[in-house]
Amino acid sequence: MQAIGEPAYRGAQIYHAIYAERRFDFAEMSNLPAALRERLAREAAIELPRIVRRHMSSDGTVRYVLGVGEREGEKPATIEAVFMPEENRQTICISTQAGCAVDCRFCLTATLGLMRNLSAGEIVGQVLVALEDNHAGLKPQTNIVLMGQGEPLLNYDAVMSALRILLDPNGVAIAPRHAALSTSGIVPGIERLAQEKVRPNLAISLNASSDEQRDQIMPINRKYPLEKLLEACRKYPLRPREWLLFEYVMLGGFNDSPEDARRVVKLLANIRAKVNLIPWNPGDLPLKRPERQRVEEFQRVLIEKGVPCFIRDSRGQDVMAACGQLALAEAAAATSSGASL
Ligand code: SF4
Repeated sequence: MQAIGEPAYRGAQIYHAIYAERRFDFAEMSNLPAALRERLAREAAIELPRIVRRHMSSDGTVRYVLGVGEREGEKPATIEAVFMPEENRQTICISTQAGCAVDCRFCLTATLGLMRNLSAGEIVGQVLVALEDNHAGLKPQTNIVLMGQGEPLLNYDAVMSALRILLDPNGVAIAPRHAALSTSGIVPGIERLAQEKVRPNLAISLNASSDEQRDQIMPINRKYPLEKLLEACRKYPLRPREWLLFEYVMLGGFNDSPEDARRVVKLLANIRAKVNLIPWNPGDLPLKRPERQRVEEFQRVLIEKGVPCFIRDSRGQDVMAACGQLALAEAAAATSSGASL
């Protein structure tokens, strides 16, 4: 605002109007003088990611395919966000990169490769689109999870800029305890996050009980093996009532035995940890869903050893629920019609 000859506090007013009041038309910003509103309408634009497609699930989950970077001179990309309504809250899952370079074997996004990092605006924009599109039925509490496409800690600066707006009480005003960032285990990123004053809860995608096993499904483990990763977790300065969440995608016959469960207990010794077991959601990849009984047995071993452990069946199973499936479907459609992403 100062750069265009306006008082600086106008910047704070516009910030509040966009993020707290979610007004995306300058004409609706009644706290600005009429002449400024007209000028902004002529010279500036507020743009949200474009909804390319909505996939509605019978449980109320809405999966969005969103288009970003569509103005001249930008690099267009297709990403995914998911809106999950619950009784007293909604959870919004967002992407931090278009595609991903980390190459986890159980993940469909990995097959896209990395197309590009998302900007802070494109990350915040996904939350705003999901809130706007479900405006009528919103519950008082919103949770956000950075678990869509991409490795958030490999796009650190944009992710933190977005989180500062999303978690700002004068911005989108999501409580930091209602936000979670999920990483494949980028150790320098975890160490950086540990220094942040305002930060989301941290979730680590563990998925294996030994280096040998983890190397096979998460090649990033060769760079940051379990010992280094868990040492960074042990040093992570948890606040009172804060936990590290370990996600464990269960792959039938691969990492779902009681011995695996016992090894996981050992790995997590001296870490204030919770574990989420995620039975593999069948997709196009050559991996199997685990048997229910194995999942429950695994859970029992952890709980008996004092590690809180939950089974999380992914939502929206009937609308291609594995991360990256929607983008793959879009890519296939675009290729067959001759367009490019
Ligand atoms: S699971 Fe996450 S980090 Fe791994 S390839 Fe998929 S999007 Fe990337």
